[in-house]
Amino acid sequence: MMARIPVLLCAILLSVPPLFGQGDLRRTLLVRIDSVRETDLAKSGIIAYDDYRPRGILSLVRDTAQVLVTHAEAELLRERGFRCSVLMEDTSELQLVRRAAYGATMRLEPPYHSSMSLMREVDSLRKAHPSLIRVFPIGNTTQEHQPIYAVKIAARVGKDNDRPSILINGCHHSNELLGAEICLGFLHDVAAKYGKDPEVTRWLDEFQIVVVPVVNVDGHNVVTSGQDPRWRKNRRDTDGDGEVRYPEGVDLNRNYNFNWAQGGSGDVGSERYRGPFPFSESEAAAIAALAREERFLCSITYHSQGEVIYYPWTWGGRKAPDDRLLTAMARDIAGSIVTMRGDTCYKAEYGAGLVGQSYTWLYGTLGTFDFVVETGKGASFVPPHEVNGVVRANLQGIYTLLRRAEGPGLLVHVTDAVTRVPLSAEVWFPGIETEDVQRRTSHPRSGILHRLLMPGLYDIIISRPGYRPVVLEKILVGPSGWTVREVSLQKTSPR
Ligand SMILES: [Zn+2]
Repeated sequence: MMARIPVLLCAILLSVPPLFGQGDLRRTLLVRIDSVRETDLAKSGIIAYDDYRPRGILSLVRDTAQVLVTHAEAELLRERGFRCSVLMEDTSELQLVRRAAYGATMRLEPPYHSSMSLMREVDSLRKAHPSLIRVFPIGNTTQEHQPIYAVKIAARVGKDNDRPSILINGCHHSNELLGAEICLGFLHDVAAKYGKDPEVTRWLDEFQIVVVPVVNVDGHNVVTSGQDPRWRKNRRDTDGDGEVRYPEGVDLNRNYNFNWAQGGSGDVGSERYRGPFPFSESEAAAIAALAREERFLCSITYHSQGEVIYYPWTWGGRKAPDDRLLTAMARDIAGSIVTMRGDTCYKAEYGAGLVGQSYTWLYGTLGTFDFVVETGKGASFVPPHEVNGVVRANLQGIYTLLRRAEGPGLLVHVTDAVTRVPLSAEVWFPGIETEDVQRRTSHPRSGILHRLLMPGLYDIIISRPGYRPVVLEKILVGPSGWTVREVSLQKTSPR
């Protein structure tokens, strides 16, 4: 989950318990409520949903809720006509939330994967398609030093590295399991369709797609091993006593170096603890290093839940410089993903700009159009029988992104006028880019910048210290594909 404020006021529930005896204050009951609507439960004023803590409503998937209540609250719910059945009574919150998340077996069931089983499956896929798939580590986790893997899928993988790169990633938050499953489902689907489906074949020919199914490997293991379904942050031992206890850890999606200080929380115990300094956590730093190397044109970052897409941004009332295009793309992607209920599609909404999240960093620093897809509805991970449906629906979102990533756009290739060596240079669109974002630069290795644009006329200023700047006026970007401009920079004459 990203930046939502708890939907309902927990204050309502504070007014309830004092009516009853002291013994009623602890929520020791896990109750299932059938045939219930979110609005009815909310209006009851008895229990509330909290995005970040297992309080009150633990899940509400389709029309079944699981709630954590006191005896008095359970009675009140029954009196109000809710169809309640007690699933478990226990003084341990952990046991209750495990029962709610994992079901009667108290274990995570297939088709969910552990990060190990997921990477084993990726490796079989790689062996079956060696010319398409490459697997490589991008770093190690902060606490347990486990490798974090990226999977590159492209025709002639490892060659023609100047093609536009696209990133798909999941599980910054380890209990938001669907992201990893969508990443894996995507790899299976495109590997099987390459050479058969003309669109998929074209995408793998034109792009390099980098998939990081599980960013928060340590936390993911805690959730998938059945230990603790609440685990969202990484496993940083924040008090340094050698043991990691819930809710320790750093929120990896508040640890990025873009408006870091304004985002998340400085409170170590918060589920949105931003960490001691930007990129203090090696998981976030690994994604940043990968992004600096690949210069992703666009990306999808999976979180859960809500069936909504957040995109850059609204920042003190200001929109992102590329607002028109970002909004059009976000709406397109959202409109292509059918909700679990099947009667409507995901919604697109502005995300907050003043947060140290991955999407603000990717867009603000590097110019990557990142779309945060909050997938699934009603729980940080939905029951196992719902997984394949959510994965299939979300593949359409990725395919919509890939269609838009084919252009229209501008490819600027910057070289030294004399040596022909590729140059990293600032490629500034003064009519678009404000000071809210860092200047976009061409890649040091290739001298190339890919930039998606609305069709139209653009002025561009290309500059690099030690060279004479070049101004391109009224460059026409057509309705489709890449408009290419070769720019050679002349060194300023030495004094
Ligand atoms: Zn999340």
